[in-house]
Amino acid sequence: MGDPETVPGIGTPPRSVVVVGASHAAVHLADRLRDFGYTGAITLVSGEPRLPYQRPPLSKAWLKGEATSESLLLRAPAHYADKDIELLTGVQVQRVARTSAGVRVEFGVAGGSRAREFDRLVLATGARARTLAIPGSDHPDVVRLRDLDHASALAERVRKGPIVVIGGGFIGLEVAATARALGTEVAVIEAGSRLLGRAVGEGTAAALLAAHRAIQTDVVLDTQPTAITVAGDGIRGVRLNGGRELPAATVLVGIGAQARIELASQLGLHCAGGVVVDDRCLASDGWTLAIGDCTTRVSPAGHHYRLESVDNATTQAEVAAAVLAGSAAAPASPAPWFWSDQGDQKLQIVGLIRDYTSVVVRTDPDKPRRRVALYFADDVLVAAECLNAPADFVALRSALNRGCNPGPEALSDSSIPIKKLLAPVCG
Ligand code: NAP
Repeated sequence: MGDPETVPGIGTPPRSVVVVGASHAAVHLADRLRDFGYTGAITLVSGEPRLPYQRPPLSKAWLKGEATSESLLLRAPAHYADKDIELLTGVQVQRVARTSAGVRVEFGVAGGSRAREFDRLVLATGARARTLAIPGSDHPDVVRLRDLDHASALAERVRKGPIVVIGGGFIGLEVAATARALGTEVAVIEAGSRLLGRAVGEGTAAALLAAHRAIQTDVVLDTQPTAITVAGDGIRGVRLNGGRELPAATVLVGIGAQARIELASQLGLHCAGGVVVDDRCLASDGWTLAIGDCTTRVSPAGHHYRLESVDNATTQAEVAAAVLAGSAAAPASPAPWFWSDQGDQKLQIVGLIRDYTSVVVRTDPDKPRRRVALYFADDVLVAAECLNAPADFVALRSALNRGCNPGPEALSDSSIPIKKLLAPVCG
């Protein structure tokens, strides 16, 4: 965190760059390369048969019918040609192999494969939804949500009978709130003792639990599904480990995502839940770059961690573009941030909630929906969780990015707006 830093480049920019994947990270990388004055060839390869699109609306506006294929697009259709970016859609990369000059990429084509060579490879392969291995989980009424096809399948079902969501994480809670807004009966089954166990602190999790229960979502904690029960052609419900069965016409499985590392493995790159990359987005061979949801990073304390968010995708894309372009300056490590809209609950998080030593919670009796939790490591602000407090989030994100660190005492008086408390310390 702190001032922008210069990212060392890789020397002479390559004549051609191939990016496997064409979602948030890949598209941003291509754009930033052009912004940095890169004039070589850029090829983006997407397995999906459509133009790159935004994923965050899939669990919300798309399910409600408030978004269209056009409004989802990450860039206008003409953008790629305008920027001289080759976009291959509906094309699977089957193999990648290093050559003396760069990389050989084999694309699947009807009846076989076709190979092309490029100077440099970037993996932006993303992640896939984790699958659930219980009896009945391969039934067509059991769905997941990762791409537009999944979201369209879910949109067709979302008004047709009760939905049971397995997993009280981001996907599950966003879909649950959307389905409730559409009048559908919803239950959420979460294995852990609280919602969003790996993402937020206890108080925020409790506030969200109360909010979901207030809109009549049946949230069941500390519980695992044991089977999907079937009746005729459809499913009947979800059996739980206590023996109870919840009725369901559709089951959504949202139990996490697994990085797509098959191509990285072909190259022998070090993977630990994702492609391990350094601060320059370089993988273990010091040559291949990887960005976005497929990557894993190593903390200063030596722990592996993954950040699955649009912010991480664009931040790593920015760094990778600077590295490839050879000289440009890029923000090396702005505080990561996330957001999740769950019905009328707006959750925003900045920084990493780990290794903290104290927490300050700010609430306001006049605004009971609002809750801000500030995390400090040895009195230094390291992260903030804002529920229904967007102005506080903006101020705190700015403070963290500027490396301005007011201690817990300075921020503890909930009756004074956070912006005012930050002003004397952060200017
Ligand atoms: P997630 O946020 O990791 O949540 C998965 C949840 O399912 C966890 O609470 C997990 O509990 C629980 N779980 C795991 N196995 C279970 C089981 N057998 N039965 C019941 N519960 C189980 O993953 P997700 O919601 O599937 O989302 C997928 C990815 O998309 C994530 O990386 C997420 O960050 C991303 N995403 C982000 C946003 C956003 O930033 N707004 C929105 C949508 C999706 P444990 O933690 O105890 O394993």
